[in-house]
Amino acid sequence: MVSMKRLNKWYGDFHVLRDIDLEVAKGERIVVCGPSGSGKSTLIRCINHLEEHQQGEITVNGITMTQDIKRIEQIRRNVGMVFQHFNLFPHLTVLENCCLSQVWVQKKPRRDAEKSAMEYLERVRIANQAHKYPGQLSGGQQQRVAIARALCMRPEVMLFDEPTSALDPEMIKEVLDVMIELAQEGMTMLCVTHEMGFARTVADRVIFMDEGQIVEEAPPETLFNDPQSPRTQEFLSQIL
Ligand code: ATP
Ligand code: MG
Repeated sequence: MVSMKRLNKWYGDFHVLRDIDLEVAKGERIVVCGPSGSGKSTLIRCINHLEEHQQGEITVNGITMTQDIKRIEQIRRNVGMVFQHFNLFPHLTVLENCCLSQVWVQKKPRRDAEKSAMEYLERVRIANQAHKYPGQLSGGQQQRVAIARALCMRPEVMLFDEPTSALDPEMIKEVLDVMIELAQEGMTMLCVTHEMGFARTVADRVIFMDEGQIVEEAPPETLFNDPQSPRTQEFLSQIL
């Protein structure tokens, strides 16, 4: 579903991603962890070309990334993204946030878009807030709207970049529960998160990154209980 081959990226002189090789199969759930600045966000943002790589190859659902905007848009239609800070449009209601891309990108009639939006808002248990503005919702509620909005585009793969790290503790669970359900339904997911309980529950593989490299990857039990690299051991000792 997602394939990265010998991916390298620089920000100016700074070599941020180094020879990344990653294959994510359809239905697979990947958790990416690692210290701040290790390149986790950059890695997943390359998948929908929010960041551009300089060397190597990315293929998403059979489409290989090029500079061609048509190609990039084609890939983006397959990829849903959820950010740390929700990134909802503040001047649009919850329902309008969920309809915007369906109407403008997918060219759906508004009525169909609203029907689909309400179904997804129902699934993340927030349909009763559909006519509110994001600023009137809690962080956990906003993040669930952001997940519903991404799902409305019927993506093949979902990317999460620390979706719970801006939330108060009591709201983390309501967002993780939605993500767990999504995983159990078979969604292909790449999640940057340090929620190790989530990783243990749903991840097929946990990837540990440091200094722009994949240092180690293994199923959660193996990586957490028996990390091989000293860098992984040190990182885990700080967060587990
Ligand atoms: P965090 O856990 O803090 O979110 P991260 O693993 O997601 O960190 P990235 O955001 O991918 O790390 O950043 C990796 C490195 O690249 C960092 O050293 C960061 O300062 C640098 N970086 C990120 N974005 C840019 C940019 N637009 N221009 C220059 N350097 C950048
Ligand atoms: Mg990050």
